[in-house]
Amino acid sequence: MTSEGAFPKRRQLPKLMACMTKTSLENLRNKALFGLNVLDAKGIRRRKFPLHECIILELKEAGYTESSDYLQDLIYDNIQLVEEDDIGIVVDLRTRNDYLEHISAGLQRAEKERDRDNTKKECLELLNLALHYAEQGKGILWLAEKFFLASIAVSSQYLIDGGRQKGCCKYHYAKFLLDKFPGADPEESFVILTEVRDSAIGKTWPLYEPKDEHDVVPPDTVFQATALQLHRVLLTKARAIRKEDPGKAERLSRLAERRARDAEETGKTAEAITEIGICQLAMNNLSNALKTFERAFQIHNATNNIEGLCETRMHLAAVMQRLGDHESSANLLTEMGALAMEHGLRRQLGRALHLLGELHLRREKPELGTQHLSEAFVCFIGYEFQKQSQIKLLGTKENKSVVDGLDMLYKTKDKEIYLEESEQSRLMMAISAGQELMASYFNLLREAKHCTVAKMKTIEWKLSHAGWWIKKKSHDLLPCLCPIHNRTPLDVLRIQLEIKESLDRMRAECSEGDALLERTDTIQDLRHITSSFNQSLHLGKYIKNSILLFYFIYYSYSL
Ligand SMILES: [Zn+2]
Repeated sequence: MTSEGAFPKRRQLPKLMACMTKTSLENLRNKALFGLNVLDAKGIRRRKFPLHECIILELKEAGYTESSDYLQDLIYDNIQLVEEDDIGIVVDLRTRNDYLEHISAGLQRAEKERDRDNTKKECLELLNLALHYAEQGKGILWLAEKFFLASIAVSSQYLIDGGRQKGCCKYHYAKFLLDKFPGADPEESFVILTEVRDSAIGKTWPLYEPKDEHDVVPPDTVFQATALQLHRVLLTKARAIRKEDPGKAERLSRLAERRARDAEETGKTAEAITEIGICQLAMNNLSNALKTFERAFQIHNATNNIEGLCETRMHLAAVMQRLGDHESSANLLTEMGALAMEHGLRRQLGRALHLLGELHLRREKPELGTQHLSEAFVCFIGYEFQKQSQIKLLGTKENKSVVDGLDMLYKTKDKEIYLEESEQSRLMMAISAGQELMASYFNLLREAKHCTVAKMKTIEWKLSHAGWWIKKKSHDLLPCLCPIHNRTPLDVLRIQLEIKESLDRMRAECSEGDALLERTDTIQDLRHITSSFNQSLHLGKYIKNSILLFYFIYYSYSL
């Protein structure tokens, strides 16, 4: 009865086992035995104890006592670092067998070179370990730092090359600090790099050495590479203090310029010069800032650096704006935008448009400002957005060619969205649009000329969006000397009195009617209610009129 529809399942047959004869079993056993790894004493230990302990013992047994001690110290330090680490980022070496094997091999090679009194090669082995672990993620940077310091210590004993090897190790360490700890104070790197530079002045020490004949290495010298890193540190420092102390920032930028010249890097030189100009602009030293930016512009022009040209034009426009030359400023920004569009630099185009918008806003042309800012917004936000809102934002405007130009630009370029910039443009656009409304509002007030009623209607429209086409009684009580209304305050008073009289007459008529009715009490109550209603109506009107009058007077003064 339980499951009428279901058939009983077919019983499964047992699987047939492969036929096992005595010889086949023998073969299987032998194969398994031969396949087993041969374990020596070390192998057995490695199966029983953690790898780091085994490696420390193995190193000692093989005669690498210093490596063994060093590894033990490393593990000890690592355990402490892991314990202090609250965010769980530090790599626990005990869990990383691949790292342990790699470190052990490197340390052995270094100790071998040490035993041969080959200090330079020993130093290079340690430096290679450092450079390797510098690229293995944040959790292992502590290890890289230890190897860097070890390599510097070893290189300090090797002075036959005049200090080149020591300089190289220190250079790599300083660069490691700058690259891997970008937010940290660059002072330590600065001190190290200055030492290296001092020792390398006038020397043609190569930074890299070929490992064999066929190895090709970059031709950088220690002096040039150090100068470049110093340029970087100096500019970072300058930018950090520019707001508080632009004078000091300018001096640091000048030093950075000299270092860039040492390194014979024109692009970096121009970068430092631009920074000098920004500091001068911050100190309101406009004529010098102008000269400085022009100097940077010449360099970018000579090397045809488009991004640099855009940037210096932007700074030059800022100087021109401060000098009050809005026309030149607008021209520079337009050139910047055109250049950026030509070369598909979306960010630069967006900035040019944004700055043009701000400039127009400052020159009290909010209608132009709003348009440029909306274009800047679209430019920052990118093609996908632009495609949807193109019709809404730009399509209605006459700038069809601009739309086509933007279209081309977005299609060819990456789809990165500059969120912060686009947000700024959007905000400015809103402000500009608001300014535009205010302008049209004041224009209307101006249009109203002498007609007080028209002005009042405009004010009411602005304040409470009241339609000016709606007739209101309160407007009849406004004194207005225009030819259409032509009523003096006295006329208004007369009108008010007339209204009052007619109201009184109505009331009197009402009370005559009351007398005809018998239920006097109720009628009196009713009349009381009516009159108080009328009074409050009057009072309300009076208050409203006074408020509007106040606004009117306030706005006529501000005009
Ligand atoms: Zn009027």
